[in-house]
Amino acid sequence: MIKKYLLAPGPTQVPPEVLLRMAQPIIHHRSPDFTPVMEEVKEGLKWLFQTQNDVLIMASSGTGAMEGSISNFMSPGDKVITVNGGKFGERWGKICKAFGVNATEIKVEWGEAVDPAVIADLLKKDPSVKGVYVQASETSTGVAHDVKIIGEIVSRYPNTIFVVDAITALGVFDIKPDEWGIDILITGSQKALMLPPGLAFASVSDKAWRMNESAKCSRFYIDFKKERENLKKSTSAYTPAVSLIIGLQYVLRTLKEEGLENIFARHSLLAQATREGVKGFGLELLPKTSPSNAVTAVKAPEGFDGQQIYKRLRERYGITAAGGQDHLKGKIFRISHMGYCDKFDVITAIAGVEMVLKEMGYHGELGSGLKRAEEIFIKNI
Ligand SMILES: *Cc1c(COP(=O)(O)O)cnc(C)c1O
Repeated sequence: MIKKYLLAPGPTQVPPEVLLRMAQPIIHHRSPDFTPVMEEVKEGLKWLFQTQNDVLIMASSGTGAMEGSISNFMSPGDKVITVNGGKFGERWGKICKAFGVNATEIKVEWGEAVDPAVIADLLKKDPSVKGVYVQASETSTGVAHDVKIIGEIVSRYPNTIFVVDAITALGVFDIKPDEWGIDILITGSQKALMLPPGLAFASVSDKAWRMNESAKCSRFYIDFKKERENLKKSTSAYTPAVSLIIGLQYVLRTLKEEGLENIFARHSLLAQATREGVKGFGLELLPKTSPSNAVTAVKAPEGFDGQQIYKRLRERYGITAAGGQDHLKGKIFRISHMGYCDKFDVITAIAGVEMVLKEMGYHGELGSGLKRAEEIFIKNI
């Protein structure tokens, strides 16, 4: 037998208590049984999102909300700015193309964060830009973009909305949409929210709702306005993912119990121990600055294939981490520490990395990374 450990940056581990909740017999979504669930979830999401705005719930993966944040607020030919600092930033451009939206893409070297001054310059040159689209945490490179500073810049433009994909940021580190001028904030169920894949969420500001009134891009299933009207009645336009929402109700309760400050501190500690741990074993991180507290992207040492590292972790030790995507394939591997994660998930990951690389002939000393991580944990207990 090989015991399995899921340490990939989505889907992530789901607590057994949540799985049991979701195993209850299905209740009907248009029945009085479901209304209180939706009412509680609706309020809980506002708390988690730190917003007064409605948080829409959709039955889709995270990309559904990304798509909706373009199709519900733009018209064909509208100009937007997208930040491409990795696989998910690149996706903004692809969605825009599908809807005939004219995207100016800021290409950021994968592994680096966007320079907010570049966005400020582009907006100054062309204030008719209707939206700025960025990731708070670019999962493919493990980099966090500074959405607070970018929000300050974009909020000076009354006809430009700021859209943040926080799919691996919300519930990991602090984001305050109402204070920071974030008009649409997006997340999904399968990353930090400790749920299976299948739900996407988006909070929407008044500024964005005004833009929604004149937006002409085609849409049908992912219709934010329709969802908003239904949400007011604690229901949804179409059949919701009932079991996932029941799981979410439980997750929100446990998150509330832990408290936002503690959630952010836990992720910060796990991220720090992971980074220091791999560095202690002689490895280098991909991000040069602002690493995300959700996931750590590690460079494969010179002469070692990152895909092999990640493959061996799974095949020999049952640890599912992640490799690199596109031109980073083979160059990096990634370890997640978001959601249902604690100290011994980090210990498992670092031990696995040390063992696999040692077997492959790497010179690092076994236990040197673990030692650093353990020291950090002891100091912070
Ligand atoms: C996972 C993820 C997404 C959404 O991917 P789906 O497969 O559609 O859920 C989008 N952005 C980021 C940053 C992600 O990590």
